[in-house]
Amino acid sequence: MLIKKDPTIIQSYLEDSSNLKGGHTERVVIPQTIDEVSSVLKEADTKRVPVTVSGAGTGQAGGRVPFGGIVLSTEKLSAIKEIRKFDKGGYVVLEAGVLIKDLKEACEQKELFYTYDPTEQTAFVGGAIATNASGARSFRYGPTRQYVKGIRVALADGSILLLKRGEVKAKGRILGFEASGKRYKINLPAYKMPDTKNSAGYYAKDDMDLVDLFVGQEGTLGVIVEAELGLIDRPKEIFSAFAFFKDESSAWSFAKDSRLARPLSIEYFDVNCLKLLGERDHNVPDSAKAAIFFEDEITETEDAVMAKWEKLLSKHGVSLDNTWVAMNEKTHREFLDKRHFIPETMSEMAKRSGFPKVSTDLATPKEKLRDMLEFYKNSLEKNALRHFVFGHIGDAHLHVNMLPADQKEYEKCKNLQLEFVKKSLSLGGTVSAEHGIGKSKKGFLKLLYGEKGINEMIEVKKTLDRNLILGRGNVFDT
Ligand SMILES: Cc1cc2nc3c(=O)[nH]c(=O)nc-3n(C[C@H](O)[C@H](O)[C@H](O)COP(=O)(O)OP(=O)(O)OC[C@H]3O[C@@H](n4cnc5c(N)ncnc54)[C@H](O)[C@@H]3O)c2cc1C
Repeated sequence: MLIKKDPTIIQSYLEDSSNLKGGHTERVVIPQTIDEVSSVLKEADTKRVPVTVSGAGTGQAGGRVPFGGIVLSTEKLSAIKEIRKFDKGGYVVLEAGVLIKDLKEACEQKELFYTYDPTEQTAFVGGAIATNASGARSFRYGPTRQYVKGIRVALADGSILLLKRGEVKAKGRILGFEASGKRYKINLPAYKMPDTKNSAGYYAKDDMDLVDLFVGQEGTLGVIVEAELGLIDRPKEIFSAFAFFKDESSAWSFAKDSRLARPLSIEYFDVNCLKLLGERDHNVPDSAKAAIFFEDEITETEDAVMAKWEKLLSKHGVSLDNTWVAMNEKTHREFLDKRHFIPETMSEMAKRSGFPKVSTDLATPKEKLRDMLEFYKNSLEKNALRHFVFGHIGDAHLHVNMLPADQKEYEKCKNLQLEFVKKSLSLGGTVSAEHGIGKSKKGFLKLLYGEKGINEMIEVKKTLDRNLILGRGNVFDT
């Protein structure tokens, strides 16, 4: 086991991609085996020392930023133990600290495919499970949750729980199980989760699987040390395109119709994103007010897929001649690079400005998306703030990023962010679709589930982590 105390070395463990400041820890422990994870937790639990679990630190909600106690990093638990292909699909058993990009490469070699496809490929598998991460292609494939077939979790007292999906199911909202000779009875929260893509708070449903409680728990219920993930066959060749629209409304309508064509992803970019891209790619049409990037699988012929999209585009006033189309792997990769360039540049701009960007991760039911988009547009225009709206329009899940220039604007952005959250809730939406609550969105979670829902989550936590040592300050205040 490695232990780091040198302030210059542990500095990088005190932050993530959220810009949350003030993190501090007495030491970072880096177990090399699951037994070591267990003994670190046992000792911390006995001494009541808070433990913050650290993945790769790409999280957007401050979840791995510690405020006291120790940091337990999963970086050395990085073995891919088994990867198997069946006639259809397959599975992989791996440790929590495997990088998403390494998992993808390992799958590629077996002609298999792991569906989570975030912009940021340096996240760990454990971090993705702990936040129920999703991304662009979750439009077709769904979020991380549904691929978690099994999980090995170290509980706060150091005991190890090995779970296979299907083995432990709740009866209604009561989950009973045994681990290391101890009996647990968990009263699950009574709330109804939003009917959208969702990463906000604990998963709670009648008759749910115990595995699902540990997916999206953000390091508050246990340390995920190993997982078995379902894999699918590698998609066939991919057709992708950037379509440009003369107004936002046409882009929104195109996105709605595109859902029926079941592509892999449908991603939206507003005019400000296009201006940003235009600084690098001079062929972005000047007249474009919005764009949709989409990826589809070529299941029949190239001509058939082209004809399908040409028809859909022309219905919304767009010709294929003005659309960027990738028919080969090289151009497709260039398109992905353009798609990634936009959020990355935004984050760099925010860093340079000295003021954190204020962003949202809201999803609404699909039939309410247009209301939400109009609300974004009107509010952002009225407030004249520098902003970018982009993301997973196929899942009715867009990120609004506001870049304040000074303290006064920062406060204005925060107020607007709260208004967006309230609007999303009024439409039946969620307060976090993929990033999780972490430390920065706890107030929003309270708006979603109320004091009662929060208290019910705390009761769940107390059953599994009596001394409240894990992930302190994440999801709710303890
Ligand atoms: C440029 C960029 C693009 C992104 N794009 C996407 C996207 O498309 N979709 C998406 O969903 N997210 C996206 N993210 C967010 C982020 O990449 C994901 O949330 C990712 O899954 C976090 O993984 P991590 O290993 O970095 O976790 P960390 O940031 O280290 O931790 C995240 C949370 O999980 C907990 N945790 C980590 N590992 C474990 C474990 N083994 N056991 C228990 N708890 C644990 C931590 O305590 C913390 O609360 C993006 C981030 C960036 C910077």
